[in-house]
Amino acid sequence: MNNQKIRVRFAPSPTGPLHMGGVRTALFNYLFARKNGGDFLLRIEDTDQTRYVPGAEEYIMEALRWCGIKIDEGVQEGGPCGPYRQSERKALYKEFALRLIESGNAYYAFDTPEELDALRAEHESRGETFTYNAATRGQLRNSLVMNAVEVQKLISEGEKYVVRFKMPVNVDVTESDIIRGTVTFNTDRLDDKVLFKSDGMPTYHLANVVDDHLMQITHVIRGEEWLPSMPLHVLLYQSLGWESPKFAHLPLILKPVGKGKLSKRDGDKMGFPVFPLQWTDPFTNEVSSGYREDGYFPEAFVNMLALLGWNPGTEQEIFSMEELIEAFDLARVGKSGSKFDPEKTKWFNHQYMILKPDNELAESFNVLLKEKGIDAPLDYVVKVVAMLKERATFLPDIWEQGFYFFEAPTAYNEKDVKKRWKEGVPEMIEQIASFFVRYEGAWEAFQMKETFSAFVTENEWGFGLVMNAFRICIVGASMGADLFEICEMIGKDETIKRLNNAVNNISIV
Ligand code: GLU
Repeated sequence: MNNQKIRVRFAPSPTGPLHMGGVRTALFNYLFARKNGGDFLLRIEDTDQTRYVPGAEEYIMEALRWCGIKIDEGVQEGGPCGPYRQSERKALYKEFALRLIESGNAYYAFDTPEELDALRAEHESRGETFTYNAATRGQLRNSLVMNAVEVQKLISEGEKYVVRFKMPVNVDVTESDIIRGTVTFNTDRLDDKVLFKSDGMPTYHLANVVDDHLMQITHVIRGEEWLPSMPLHVLLYQSLGWESPKFAHLPLILKPVGKGKLSKRDGDKMGFPVFPLQWTDPFTNEVSSGYREDGYFPEAFVNMLALLGWNPGTEQEIFSMEELIEAFDLARVGKSGSKFDPEKTKWFNHQYMILKPDNELAESFNVLLKEKGIDAPLDYVVKVVAMLKERATFLPDIWEQGFYFFEAPTAYNEKDVKKRWKEGVPEMIEQIASFFVRYEGAWEAFQMKETFSAFVTENEWGFGLVMNAFRICIVGASMGADLFEICEMIGKDETIKRLNNAVNNISIV
């Protein structure tokens, strides 16, 4: 398979919104494919109809699109190995189940769910666990203990059956995993998994192996939770006479605090999203937050995810998608789980806020302004954004930091007023207002500051006292960007208006 084109797939089941761990799996597959000039496929594994959730498939595709993960072959894209939705490939799997029966690697099992439940309960009452395996299959209702005529009779009478894999006895299955090295499992610890269900659908195991083969997948890159399935999959490849793809099982993403895997339920409980996009459960209407709706840039989210489990081997932390593709190497993915850090995720967003072109940020910020009923010229917004983005993690922070660029204060911060609005201040502000009325220099921060400073000195006022009170008039509080820059931006008339307003509306406390 050396000269074979690299082909990988992301194979989610549409059982709900895609967890960020799933997005990372998709991302690592994508990076690996791009880095090696290969193909990235999206296959929807929807053979378990009981777990199907409407909207989940669309959500998965939308999430990948938002992250900039481009699919070469998939449900929407099509491709030479389609269909890419397993429910549409239903007819295909039975043939392989039958092939496995013919070669003696699988068998029909007629045990009803009730019979199996009873066996489980009976074992449990003795403190044991019932397993369908080499030790028990000889006493159960299956084609290993019946003759061919009996089997055919049951089938033609419409008796329900499943097809089970006949796990070989005491065989060490050894396989190499790109991330974990050599992994060995003994078959005596594995059960006779169902491959084909009574509803005519394959199980995950059969469909996954058949499709990976038919879709010419060269590398299976997936979450650690699938590692225990690897021996069965390897045996299935062998039994079908196919070469196995290479495997890479990614480490878990762990909770930021405490032990264990970051679960779907952790997010809103711990105060951060675990999903890329907001999700409304179609059955309960419960809403789970998403990175997109919480104001994260997709680049920041992707950058953060890439470094969860993968280490570039350098100090570099900020990577564009192109840089990730260039630097990515499965050999640098660690075995042990990585703790998710919500604060670091915010840090990434802040970094991208600084990196993003002012124009682009201004356009997004304008949407937010429009929602507030504010219509500002784009070049004005660009200037505000450029001035404030260093102080912002999310776009709404720019509003928090710079609302006064767009509207006059409607209230004045009580604490700041108490501290700064002293006896004599209103008279001083009145004089400042007249100073600006008389001012004929350029309406430009540097020039204004010089002339104004001279005016303050002339009056023998304390500079701190003046500037603090002046700021309260313009901003409404002791905060914000350089005061003269604000005045330059809002203009002469507005500056004078705000000074007069303050004199009329603030009382000394
Ligand atoms: N359908 C499986 C899932 O939901 C795919 C596992 C695999 O990649 O083999 O994760």
